[in-house]
Amino acid sequence: MRASYIREQRERFGRRAVAVLPVHYPKPLLTAAGLLAVELWGPPGPPRGSDAGRLQPYVCAIVRNALAFMASGGLAAVDGVLFPHTCDSIQGLATLAPDFGGLDKPALRYQHARGERRPSAVAFLVDELRLLADALAALSGRAPDGAAIDAAIELHLRIDDRRRALLRERRRLPHTDRELYALLRRGEYLWPADHLAELEAAAAQLQPAPVQRGTPIMITGYVPEPAALLDVLGAAGALVVADDYAGIGRRLLPRLAAPPSDPFAHLAELAFVTPPCPTRGDSQARRLRHLDALFDQGQAAGVIIHVVKFCEPELFDVPAIHQHFAARGAPVLVIEGELESELSGQAATRLEAFVEMVQQARGTA
Ligand code: SF4
Repeated sequence: MRASYIREQRERFGRRAVAVLPVHYPKPLLTAAGLLAVELWGPPGPPRGSDAGRLQPYVCAIVRNALAFMASGGLAAVDGVLFPHTCDSIQGLATLAPDFGGLDKPALRYQHARGERRPSAVAFLVDELRLLADALAALSGRAPDGAAIDAAIELHLRIDDRRRALLRERRRLPHTDRELYALLRRGEYLWPADHLAELEAAAAQLQPAPVQRGTPIMITGYVPEPAALLDVLGAAGALVVADDYAGIGRRLLPRLAAPPSDPFAHLAELAFVTPPCPTRGDSQARRLRHLDALFDQGQAAGVIIHVVKFCEPELFDVPAIHQHFAARGAPVLVIEGELESELSGQAATRLEAFVEMVQQARGTA
């Protein structure tokens, strides 16, 4: 599916494609350069070949599967790979992929500014964005001017406005969680204007009044894999009303009240106001405030923390989130996965029992 879409984009519009490792990256720069971003979250399921074994077993499945995927020729359809400095494992992969993964395409890197906004961090990020823009222009053969970057930023802001509204108005949307997440995740590879059209079609289906009555749950985690997790929650009578997945809600760009006129400065400033993420070194205090706001706004009644095994950045925050919401009296479930393509029976049972516990706590069982 993705390979055929990439091929179609190339043949019809002359767009080259870049595989992008998780999580955060300045996507408007790729759009402005006419490059199709195709995100590589693993892919899920068993590694596609023995090269995953070149990494230590305590490296997460995202990186192990990505290495195996690259080594098995999975990137034949793209023209380059972007490695954001999300964690040491992805940074290491950027070095290992050409050696062990047989990567013969340009490997681009992008460093984040860590922690809170500071003038030095903004300046660092502006430089980093300019460097990346040059590398992208070399790949696409098209150096975007300021107007093109401004237009791409606006396009992605409109996309995120829509995504945010669909998540916020979840109860008025006649979609299952599985359907909504499938729609949101299509943004991982669709050309942005195509994704926006699909989001607008979904927004047109929002009903005047709530049509969803499921037990309201907040999920914080990395990536909603396996998607069957959402089916199990739905069948147990739950509804995801607040999302803090790194791949979904944590990437929503807000609009600035007074954006800088320079597009690189605008992109840099946006990086400091997106929802807090441990992969960018945001403080736990800011993150907990954000999660509190999400939980309250969605009127959630329980919290699922869904992490990838061996993911250091995510796991670092788990005890604090668990403790914080338990102190608020909210049931909390921590569930760990390894990018399996199917949900284990044990995980399904734990999810069902958790939903029942939340229902009992609310007196709706
Ligand atoms: S799951 Fe965690 S450790 Fe693995 S690539 Fe993502 S951030 Fe890095």
